[in-house]
Amino acid sequence: MSGAPRAVLATRNAHKVGEIAALLAGPLPSLELLALDAEGLPAVPDVVESGTTFAANSLLKARAACAATGLPALADDSGLCVDVLGGAPGVFSARWSGRHGDDAANLSLLLAQLADVPDEERGASFVCAAALVLPGGHEEVRSGRLAGSLARAPRGAGGFGYDPAVVPEGEHRTLGEMSAAEKNAISHRARAFAALAGSLPRLLG
Ligand code: IMP
Repeated sequence: MSGAPRAVLATRNAHKVGEIAALLAGPLPSLELLALDAEGLPAVPDVVESGTTFAANSLLKARAACAATGLPALADDSGLCVDVLGGAPGVFSARWSGRHGDDAANLSLLLAQLADVPDEERGASFVCAAALVLPGGHEEVRSGRLAGSLARAPRGAGGFGYDPAVVPEGEHRTLGEMSAAEKNAISHRARAFAALAGSLPRLLG
């Protein structure tokens, strides 16, 4: 049996698994990160995201994964906060159009809602909370933010969700037009997991 630290990542989103595994490979290269559908893991029930903050929802997901598997669990909760919408869609980003996880419908509804908003008022930020829950009950949450603005129409096929509409501050391209490595270097998720990563070698290593 190897002594490598193991943790379960409480998401079924393949894009997030790839992004987060790449982010944690730096601080904790020996970490074996298991996705929820990894072979041999007990089934983890779907969590109702009943929290009204990213932190609360990230903890709900990590606690459920930890309880079901008995392993340290990492989870994130994230979304897009649009200035002129008072921070919406926020925790409702994944279900903004009414159907959970319908990225194309969510994006086209948001851009239609903002059709008349001028360029200088199209500020928006991606926000992410990253949670770690240990079987012994220890819990930590850190957050990260990527500020930018909304394009008028989607551009680029990279990333997922709202990426084709979000232009990070100081950039002219959308996240959809950037490579995965370029996005990982600046993303809200990278920043949240980088903040959490400082504790990982001590808690999991
Ligand atoms: P979660 O899976 O509950 O965290 O919901 C996140 C939702 O916010 C996704 O379905 C996307 O709509 C949006 N979102 C979060 N992070 C990103 C990102 O990095 N790119 C694009 N959309 C994102």
